[in-house]
Amino acid sequence: MGNREKKTDVILIGAGTMSATLGTILKELVPEWEITVFEKLGSAGEESSNEWNNAGTGHAALCELNYTVEKPDGTVDITKAIKINEQFQVSRQFWSYLVNRNLIHNPQDFIRSLPHMSMVQGEENVRFLKKRFEAMSNNPLFRGAEFSDDPKKLMEWFPLIMQQRPLNEAIAATKNEAGTDVNFGALTRMLFNHLESENVNIHYKHRVDNMKRTNDGAWELKVKNLESGTIERHTAKFVFVGGGGGSLHILQKSGIPEGKHIGGFPVSGLFLVCNNPEVVAKHHAKVYGKAKVGAPPMSVPHLDTRFIDNKKSLLFGPFAGFSPKFLKTGSVCDLITSVKPDNLLTMLSAGVKEMSLTKYLIQQVLLSKEQRIEDLREFIPTATVEDWDLVVAGQRVQVIKDTEAGGKGTLQFGTEVITSGDGSVAALLGASPGASTAVHVMLDVINRCFPQQMKEWEPKIKEMIPSYGMSLMDNPKLLYKVQTSTAEALELNERKPIVS
Ligand SMILES: Cc1cc2nc3c(=O)[nH]c(=O)nc-3n(C[C@H](O)[C@H](O)[C@H](O)COP(=O)(O)OP(=O)(O)OC[C@H]3O[C@@H](n4cnc5c(N)ncnc54)[C@H](O)[C@@H]3O)c2cc1C
Repeated sequence: MGNREKKTDVILIGAGTMSATLGTILKELVPEWEITVFEKLGSAGEESSNEWNNAGTGHAALCELNYTVEKPDGTVDITKAIKINEQFQVSRQFWSYLVNRNLIHNPQDFIRSLPHMSMVQGEENVRFLKKRFEAMSNNPLFRGAEFSDDPKKLMEWFPLIMQQRPLNEAIAATKNEAGTDVNFGALTRMLFNHLESENVNIHYKHRVDNMKRTNDGAWELKVKNLESGTIERHTAKFVFVGGGGGSLHILQKSGIPEGKHIGGFPVSGLFLVCNNPEVVAKHHAKVYGKAKVGAPPMSVPHLDTRFIDNKKSLLFGPFAGFSPKFLKTGSVCDLITSVKPDNLLTMLSAGVKEMSLTKYLIQQVLLSKEQRIEDLREFIPTATVEDWDLVVAGQRVQVIKDTEAGGKGTLQFGTEVITSGDGSVAALLGASPGASTAVHVMLDVINRCFPQQMKEWEPKIKEMIPSYGMSLMDNPKLLYKVQTSTAEALELNERKPIVS
């Protein structure tokens, strides 16, 4: 066993889409900084960012019903939808910048236009969808959406869903042509290829096992070369923990007080994938439904056209599953070893509070393939068992923490950025809305960890993201410019947005 020590400016742990995004932004802001990446697997984008491990939805709140809530007074609150749409516009601008500068190529290899639709059944849900549509259609971010409860129109929008559907129940949908399917795996690989060409040191099959502070305030990482078995020591002034589900354990090892009292609960995702090309050819959209009562928000069922390796496929899900692993390639001991004296009470409180989630997960795990096909038949009445195969997607580790609103052990469904007080370490936990908002989230990391440099960096950030720091909703002209220029750069064939 050797024991080498190396110094670098920045260390990124994990080669997923988050590290890829942060590394790419930092290389544009400070090209002279030396960046080193450690990834325990053999290549980039193999865990949650892989195209088969997530749903590939460019989350812009055009179809996800869980981003809008009906308030007790009957009005629909679209605040969260606005936030997510604005964040996705930031991603589109950054990706366009990279394409326009020839830093990445062939946008069609990672992003395609695909209508986003919401579909509901039953009088009560139809009434909600109409109200939601009305609340959103006045907002410039969502203009261009259509609503219909006319079966003939719906047959045009999604024939597979309408085929042989008994029409004794009300059904309605909304459609927005500005939706996208994003291959986050391909994007991650493109970004790492770019980083490699910029002399970023990327070490695959290198696992970060520990990190501790050095006397001068930097961080020393203990890294195991999984091929040779050697242990290496690497130091950096700034460390980003982008280990996906693996981040919590590394954060705990850092010992920073901000990482205390936080736990994680893994929920796996499973999808049904259609193996019949005739069925695949009949559908062209992402159609999101309503989550079942008691189901967590990430279990909203959806029927998705996907473009992977230039091939069109059809996925339905996700079904939730349970595995104690925090990564698909993780260990069955992940959950138990994440329980520490400081988060024990938080975890126990969550266990008591989240009985309905536990019940839901047990029900989901026990589903037979025929029962899953029954769920699919709510979307495709003609679905047959032979046309669909079950595939296991990625692990999501939901953050559990103590909050003022929810009390001890509250389960979080969003993304959480944890930074040390001095900004020398940042960790990303949680998974939703995930990869779609990676650029916004990484800019937040930069803002929190490098406050002194922000003034100097701002012009470059604005060059990459012209709307940086502005609300697009309040600047419809800028929104139009951003939407049209990014559609052109990313070769999206969406309809021209409507200017107010
Ligand atoms: C079922 C499912 C569906 C989803 N659908 C969508 C969607 O439709 N749209 C969307 O925007 N997002 C979606 N997401 C979320 C999205 O996939 C994630 O937010 C995103 O991929 C996270 O990227 P990441 O870089 O943080 O993590 P990852 O892609 O998981 O990468 C983390 C990397 O760190 C490595 N690593 C971990 N520990 C160590 C260590 N100790 N040393 C070295 N390397 C380490 C891992 O091997 C891995 O390669 C979905 C997620 C799931 C699970």
